[in-house]
Amino acid sequence: MPGLKAKSAARTITRLKALGHVVTLITWLLAGPALHAASLTEYRVGGQNYIRLVDWARLHGLRYSRTTGSREAHARDNDTHVAVQIDASRIEFNEIAVWLSSPVLLADGQVVVSSLDVRGVLDPLLHPRKAIPGRRIKTVCLDPGHGGKAPGQKSGSRLEKTYTLALAEEVRSRLIKAGFNVVMTRRSDEFVDLPERNAIASRFQADLFVSLHYNASPDGGSEAGGVEVYAMTPAGTRSTNISNDIGPLHAWAGNEFDADNVQLAYQLQRSLVQRLSGTQDRGVRRARFIVLRLAEMPAVLIEAGFMSNPGDARWIYSDTGRKRTAQAIADGISAYKRAVERPPTPNPPSPQRTTSSNSSSSSDVPDSARN
Ligand SMILES: [Zn+2]
Repeated sequence: MPGLKAKSAARTITRLKALGHVVTLITWLLAGPALHAASLTEYRVGGQNYIRLVDWARLHGLRYSRTTGSREAHARDNDTHVAVQIDASRIEFNEIAVWLSSPVLLADGQVVVSSLDVRGVLDPLLHPRKAIPGRRIKTVCLDPGHGGKAPGQKSGSRLEKTYTLALAEEVRSRLIKAGFNVVMTRRSDEFVDLPERNAIASRFQADLFVSLHYNASPDGGSEAGGVEVYAMTPAGTRSTNISNDIGPLHAWAGNEFDADNVQLAYQLQRSLVQRLSGTQDRGVRRARFIVLRLAEMPAVLIEAGFMSNPGDARWIYSDTGRKRTAQAIADGISAYKRAVERPPTPNPPSPQRTTSSNSSSSSDVPDSARN
């Protein structure tokens, strides 16, 4: 195994969490052989904490591989394939692009991922945070972007607000067919303030908030294309498009659902990429958009294609394309529901399970051992 020798590691990398190991051991003795990120050794690189991908893989029973000298590394088993590239923030999780907040690095010959990205991306994608037993994902708030005096993107005479509403109506009917309740932030060409959109979702106690948008290339070019789904940027990390980022980096309401947000975004991106064959996978991205900051439930913002791209425009402006996009979104929401719901517990919860809203695993790992 090409692992770091302990002595050279101690010499060249600051080892953290010596005390953490003792605490981990005690937790392990008390709670049984629970696996959790706290038992991963963190290394200090360039002022940030990192975790070796090989350690993370081993912790979760995944096979780690990296061809000597290759810039790619993989962690996989029969169900999961995580592929990373050195110096890249874009990884692939089961062949779907997901953006980390910091690039993967090579440090002392080891592929390392920032601790924030391990906890904020890898862990919740591998083990979706489960809902409280018996709690259903039932009501979805759909938010067709823009409206009224706010047209959104323009491409020739076509306005984004027209197509986001048309898409939302299609998603709505499919979700209702699938057994969801649907709340809409608008059903006509009217202007709705951004905070009011979140207020509507909260008023109707929506379980999810899904904002629908279309992109257009800022420079008028026709090359940029593809779908991307945004989740709220976790506190203390950078958004994917740094030029659009706004400070401060503290936590907002939407950060309460960080683990759910990334899972919801991933399920939607996956469904869109799979169903819109040929579309570019621009990945799960992070932004501090107002509707994501203020959301009081798991929330995402979908950019379902570029109005400025001729290939994407086929999906956006045609009935067939719109229906297919809508089906992909409805399917993605259903996939998320399946990933996080668990049946009601037949017996009263044990003391260890009282904090189960923070659980991130379907296994019998005690919640006390989870972050
Ligand atoms: Zn928009």
